[in-house]
Amino acid sequence: MILLGPPGVGKGTQGVLLADVHGLSRIVTGDLLRSARAEGTELGLEASRYMDAGELVPDDVMNAMVEECLESLPDDRGVVFDGFPRTVVQATALQGTLEGLGRSIEHVIVLEADNDVLVRRIAGRRSCPECGCVFNIYSTPPEQEGLCDRDQSPLVHRVDDEPDTVRRRLEVYHELTEPLIAFYEASDASVSYVPGDKAVEDVHSAVQSVILLMAPE
Ligand code: AMP
Repeated sequence: MILLGPPGVGKGTQGVLLADVHGLSRIVTGDLLRSARAEGTELGLEASRYMDAGELVPDDVMNAMVEECLESLPDDRGVVFDGFPRTVVQATALQGTLEGLGRSIEHVIVLEADNDVLVRRIAGRRSCPECGCVFNIYSTPPEQEGLCDRDQSPLVHRVDDEPDTVRRRLEVYHELTEPLIAFYEASDASVSYVPGDKAVEDVHSAVQSVILLMAPE
């Protein structure tokens, strides 16, 4: 299952819920890159330059990272992708990798919201660097200020969530990632559109409904 949508639309939050409900593995490329950066690996440091500027990390780096990750996951469990693919080159590479593993993309869920909603949301966003849970200090604050509800790790405001970088990330989304919607519309995967500007539970229910609707008989 692929979650597509602009930064701040709620892919992270919905991905965690979907993985919990359906017992799916998650591949969250932003989290993989942030872990590599925290560990100080060469890849992490190289990727930092792109991430902090709101640009995309080169396709070949991302494709290799996702291929390795997919191969290490149990193949009897579904996978929810958050943040990958982000370009047509990545989507094409993913098709090839999945085919090689005898797997395929079932659902593409496009979460949608206007730019002003996204910018406002990102300003209040606080993420858990450990488990990937995302909170919003205005709409969905953690129970204890500054701490993750799940594992009590200190929450962080990402450097690339600063306003100038957010504007660039939105431009990059519209230019390079949005064309993936047409790419998947032309493929065998089913594509559904869900408004992402509602409360977390409402978006989750809407996502669940489309998954149920598209489930094979
Ligand atoms: P995210 O947490 O998904 O918003 O990703 C944060 C940053 O990581 C992005 O702005 C990119 O710089 C980088 N990144 C994450 N996923 C990808 C990807 N699939 N392709 C290229 N860059 C990525």
